[in-house]
Amino acid sequence: MRAYDIILKKRNGMVLTNEEFEYMITGCVNGTIPDYQTAAFLMAVYFQHLTSEETYILTELMRYSGDTVDLSQIEGITVDKHSTGGVGDKTTLILGPMVAACGAKVAKLSGRALGHTGGTIDKLESIPGFRTDIEMKQWIKQVNTIGFALAGQTANLVPGDKKLYALRDVTATVDEPSLIASSIMSKKLAGGADAFVLDVKVGSGAFMQNLNEAKQLAQIMVDIAKKADKEAVAILTNMDEPLGNKVGNALEVIEAIETLQEKGPQDLTQLCLILGKHMLKFALSIELEEAEQMLKEAISSGKAFDKMREFVKAQKGDISFLQKPYQILQNKGIYELKSEKDGYIGKVNTQMVGIAANLLGAGREEKEDAIDYYVGFDFIKKTGDKICKGDIMVKVFYNDEHKLNDAVSTLQNAITMTDLDGVEKKPLIFDIIS
Ligand code: URA
Repeated sequence: MRAYDIILKKRNGMVLTNEEFEYMITGCVNGTIPDYQTAAFLMAVYFQHLTSEETYILTELMRYSGDTVDLSQIEGITVDKHSTGGVGDKTTLILGPMVAACGAKVAKLSGRALGHTGGTIDKLESIPGFRTDIEMKQWIKQVNTIGFALAGQTANLVPGDKKLYALRDVTATVDEPSLIASSIMSKKLAGGADAFVLDVKVGSGAFMQNLNEAKQLAQIMVDIAKKADKEAVAILTNMDEPLGNKVGNALEVIEAIETLQEKGPQDLTQLCLILGKHMLKFALSIELEEAEQMLKEAISSGKAFDKMREFVKAQKGDISFLQKPYQILQNKGIYELKSEKDGYIGKVNTQMVGIAANLLGAGREEKEDAIDYYVGFDFIKKTGDKICKGDIMVKVFYNDEHKLNDAVSTLQNAITMTDLDGVEKKPLIFDIIS
């Protein structure tokens, strides 16, 4: 077999066999196929696409290209939630404790921030002492005892995807739905859960800015899960403005704590109830209505917040911050971005908000970059809100004055004002694919 012939076959729009994929992926991972041939192969896939069967073959090869996680020691059905990435998305911090308080088992592996979107590990590490480098044995024990544990991904999980993703990133072949779906699902399947709730973001802050493409991606991911004998549902959700009000690591932890105490923003609370009820449906084999009631009760009774305390304590975080969350912040100052005229918030370019947060120091461009946990934004006004000249639109939490100007001007450019009342607000949920 030769890589040349496989590239040619795909370039000409033909369907590849299991053996041909295996030859390409193992060769790419162990270095016997040079990067220029893998890059050409990816470009052929980008233009000719993959059939559903080919996508599944690729996913399985990547899933087993390194370590896989065995969750058989966890009692009951394990459920995982995955978001395709957004700005202000702190749902994992809320859903973990919320569904665990209802009896579900969540063994979560999470990543760090890269690009304009945040990462759950960085957010949690803004809590003093919080550890995510926990041993697999301890991680499983914690899931069995308190229902929720969260660890960073091990170095050798899905190396096939790491290699392919790095090449896609530099060859303009990231945004092909079957490549995105196989990349995400190979990691999810290697993580070992029995069921998946997939939050597929659509809009200016998401990978998929167009609803039809997002639906296609969602359908491919659900199909892969089914072929792998797992349960899955994909929920297409709005990322045309940041989720909730707060963006930035510690600020998002604060908002998660507030949401667990029934004081969270409406969009974030609603999304957590929707994702959470689907997680509980899988985990406990119950109907969605019953699941929603259980979640509401877990919040109103304080059980979900108690579970957050248990979780933070188990992972060595300082729980005193959960009582007075604003004490986590160690920023130097707050700049108030005020409106220069009367009107309404018409549109928010969410990707630019993510970039502005990075300019303040909240994220990283390269893996090795240090992160400033304590900077970010609190959106006082959201899309459709009326504002008068001089009203505060966003509070900017900063540490370094030199970074403030660039961040504020990027943020200002991200927000479009309008004179028109009745700005069309997109729904929070576009569709559900199961
Ligand atoms: N997230 C992933 O893990 N992979 C992709 O290809 C895109 C988003």
